[in-house]
Amino acid sequence: MRINVTRSALPPKEEYFEEIAFLWDSRWLTNMGEKHQTLERMLQEYFNAPNVTLFTNGHLALEGALAAFGLTGEVITTPFTFASTTHAIIRCGCKPVFCDVDPETYTLDPAKIEALITPETSAIVPVHVYGTLCDVEAIETVAKKHGLKVIYDAAHAFGVRKDGVSAACFGDASMFSFHATKVFHTVEGGCVVYREEALKHVLDRGKNFGIEGEDILSPEPNAKMSEFHAAMGICNLRRIELMIAMRKQVVERYRYNLAGVSGLTLLKEQPGVASNYAYFPVVFDGAKYTRDEAAARLGEEGIYARKYFYPLTNHCTAYGFRGDETPVAKRVSDHVLCLPLYPELAMEDVDRICEIIT
Ligand SMILES: *Cc1c(COP(=O)(O)O)cnc(C)c1O
Repeated sequence: MRINVTRSALPPKEEYFEEIAFLWDSRWLTNMGEKHQTLERMLQEYFNAPNVTLFTNGHLALEGALAAFGLTGEVITTPFTFASTTHAIIRCGCKPVFCDVDPETYTLDPAKIEALITPETSAIVPVHVYGTLCDVEAIETVAKKHGLKVIYDAAHAFGVRKDGVSAACFGDASMFSFHATKVFHTVEGGCVVYREEALKHVLDRGKNFGIEGEDILSPEPNAKMSEFHAAMGICNLRRIELMIAMRKQVVERYRYNLAGVSGLTLLKEQPGVASNYAYFPVVFDGAKYTRDEAAARLGEEGIYARKYFYPLTNHCTAYGFRGDETPVAKRVSDHVLCLPLYPELAMEDVDRICEIIT
């Protein structure tokens, strides 16, 4: 049987059907109905964060957040991410300025931020890659000193906590993606979590054509989450802790099998951080064969690992950057492979994958 890098979790059919049954009576299918309101409340509780606004996907949530803060000029960010992060900055009319990453965590290197700040800089958009938390304290220190906003792309970090505090609670705002491939999903979906309550109506307007009362204040997109998607989120949130615990077992098995294998670098565990075990990246550096050879060999066995994140976004044709300003990120991107990881992945399959690799 084919093994993909991920496999979407689903609740029991009956539970989902029960959750959506009353929509046949209410006929309130979208536009911030009861399921939408319930999921926003449940997420506020789950994150222990004051404000949550749902979106139709993570990407539009990130664009919504950047727009809500009225960012202009330059935004310091990482190229070691999915294109969505860079797209959002550019589509909001800003210029991404690429900062290199830390060689161990693959997240924005705070020591390299300050040299990139100019009078045009308005914000920092770091990414909690693979669910590994950025150095949130160091980033906050730089941001405070220079009066910059910090908006996290937390698409990978659902369920991650540092000393009990949710990843959602750092910076001015965080975007989460609820895409089907993510640790928690609503099929398609996303949200923004933020400190300032005053942003609520800006974000609500920003996902609904800019409508305010009978007027339209700005030409915004439609980025609302439907009741069917919110209902999926309600069901999935009920068993998120179990899903993360099952992922943890898979990751522990990988670690047990691959620890100490020469030429393979595994992601470090972060002290004080409860991981969500979202991805299992392996860096092939000096191993018997290259990352691409390993991926091809796994493919012959019907096992589809993925090169997250390759290419770097500062190498994508879309933006026209030269991309040589981030050598550490380049090195990771050229050697990293994410192995299959999902709650029901069988231990025998993990062992088989490891055998092929070693
Ligand atoms: C998935 C993802 C996004 C985009 O989220 P969607 O819900 O797919 O729009 C943005 N950034 C990162 C790092 C992601 O992995």
